[in-house]
Amino acid sequence: MGFFKLSIKLTLLIFCFGCFANCKKQQKNIEVKDTIAVQNKYTVSSFPDYITKEYVLGKFDYTQNDDFMLVPENLSNKKIYVRKEVLEAFLKMEMAAQKENIHLTIISGTRNFEHQKRIWNYKWNEKYKNIPMPKRALKILEYSSMPSSSRHHWGTDIDLNSLNNTYFSSGKGLNEYNWLLENAAKFGFYQPYTSKENGRTGYNEEKWHWSYLPLSKLYLDFYNQQITYQDINDFEGADFAKEIDIIKNYVNGISVELNK
Ligand SMILES: [Zn+2]
Repeated sequence: MGFFKLSIKLTLLIFCFGCFANCKKQQKNIEVKDTIAVQNKYTVSSFPDYITKEYVLGKFDYTQNDDFMLVPENLSNKKIYVRKEVLEAFLKMEMAAQKENIHLTIISGTRNFEHQKRIWNYKWNEKYKNIPMPKRALKILEYSSMPSSSRHHWGTDIDLNSLNNTYFSSGKGLNEYNWLLENAAKFGFYQPYTSKENGRTGYNEEKWHWSYLPLSKLYLDFYNQQITYQDINDFEGADFAKEIDIIKNYVNGISVELNK
């Protein structure tokens, strides 16, 4: 047994030396993939205790939750909270971006059920009140989630720099977007709402919305196992959630890359 352990250590040591010499460039990718692999073990049956139905539905106070942290003022445009693991990964990504003169500012992070309900009900009762139902719901759903179905509830998803796709199509914005496409995955961040050209359902493309996949993948797995349409209620037009099949078409209407 002792010899066996020793030989594993030696093999690892040799592997590590080999890696320093040859694959330094790939190290970050390997780390992120390992994190995802570790998280996947929970999808079978045992999720960490803190992941509850209330958690994935956004029905908790993240400002009083020790797992959430305030984003530093210089990296956000208002008071924004995200999960601590997400902030840690974002800070690493932001530092790497800065070195290439790319500046990333978080303009939205965690939003709970009540916050999303205010956005949704405003659009329902004011902004789009002249559109008949259920078309009104579909109009709001172009860019806004029904309360209980937003990835922003989870503390894993952030909006960066601008809430306008046009901003990211030229000049400074395009440089930022290209940098993110090239580098964000090294830090665990992916764009869930990509172009719909290849048949993705759900929200329109959002070049500003990035998700910390090592955790959001886990929360989505929990959501799909535990949440039903009976859990999605208490806001204007909630009855349409089932008809539109929000869980299938919107909650799971994400880039195929995220489902691998
Ligand atoms: Zn967003």
